[in-house]
Amino acid sequence: RADIIDGKAFAATLRQKVAAQVARLKAEYGIVPGLAVVLVGEDPASTVYVRNKERMTAEVGMNGHAFRLPAHASEAELLDLVRQLNADSAIHGILVQLPLPAHMDARKVINTINPEKDVDGFHVVNAGLLATGQEAMVPCTPLGCLMLLRDRLGSLAGYKALVVGASNIVGKPMAQLLLAEKCTVSIAHSRTRDLEAEVRQAEILVVAAGRAELIPGDWIKPGAVVIDVGINRIERDGKPVLVGDVAFEQAVRVAGAITPVPGGVGPMTIACLLANALTACCRAVGASEPAELVA
Ligand code: NAD
Repeated sequence: RADIIDGKAFAATLRQKVAAQVARLKAEYGIVPGLAVVLVGEDPASTVYVRNKERMTAEVGMNGHAFRLPAHASEAELLDLVRQLNADSAIHGILVQLPLPAHMDARKVINTINPEKDVDGFHVVNAGLLATGQEAMVPCTPLGCLMLLRDRLGSLAGYKALVVGASNIVGKPMAQLLLAEKCTVSIAHSRTRDLEAEVRQAEILVVAAGRAELIPGDWIKPGAVVIDVGINRIERDGKPVLVGDVAFEQAVRVAGAITPVPGGVGPMTIACLLANALTACCRAVGASEPAELVA
């Protein structure tokens, strides 16, 4: 039976390390990292995410700055706010919660954030820096997956890795990170012809397709390390349940280690957001960056 990778516990430890570094910055530089979170509208899921982010920002001792715009706010208003935050030296990280209302161009909004304050790592400059092996702000979810993989495997060099999903926020940056770790990386997506054959070869399998239990257990290479990013709400026996993109109960009999859903990758994402805000602050003040908190 596979080891269960406890993302919840790992994330709690990570947040403690961030808190210790926040205390160090305050003691040595007299500075407190400031993280601005911008929410447009009242999407229920986004409202919950933003509330959790604000709570955990406070818990690690950072200054959280919450900005709420109504759903009918104009794109120009949002861009103005982003520019104000770019210019504010007390703000080291800026996060604009996605999705944005349909009348706004999310790409334009993200690319207006100062890349050095782009704690989500979605700015095109950060994507380019990551792809060319330069110091970047790395998207939180793939960064969390990388930390879990390193913790489990140590050096990732030479491993055959498959990333299922090629989105700009998870799949592509995940593949870039694994490539930077010297894995042999494949990326599968909705037009991949024989997903099973690809999965069968993978020693590291990261799945971020957003399809409930897309990967059956018997596709998985015995001993593989499986990171399940998917979060899918489905009904089972008439009850709503949360499942990943991997059929967990089958996969756990084959894999060497696997993340559960919930309690795997999910908690890592917010912890890595805090790590990124800390990193942005360290870079802004010229403080050393703790190696275990960056990619
Ligand atoms: P997305 O919809 O933007 O991208 C999905 C990708 O999967 C696409 O590249 C698509 O081609 C591919 N795909 C879809 N169906 C496929 C199939 N049948 N076979 C192979 N590939 C297929 O999604 P996303 O934003 O990257 O998110 C993916 C999943 O991860 C979602 O379930 C999302 O909820 C979850 N997620 C979790 C966290 C977290 O913190 N744990 C963070 C972000 C996203």
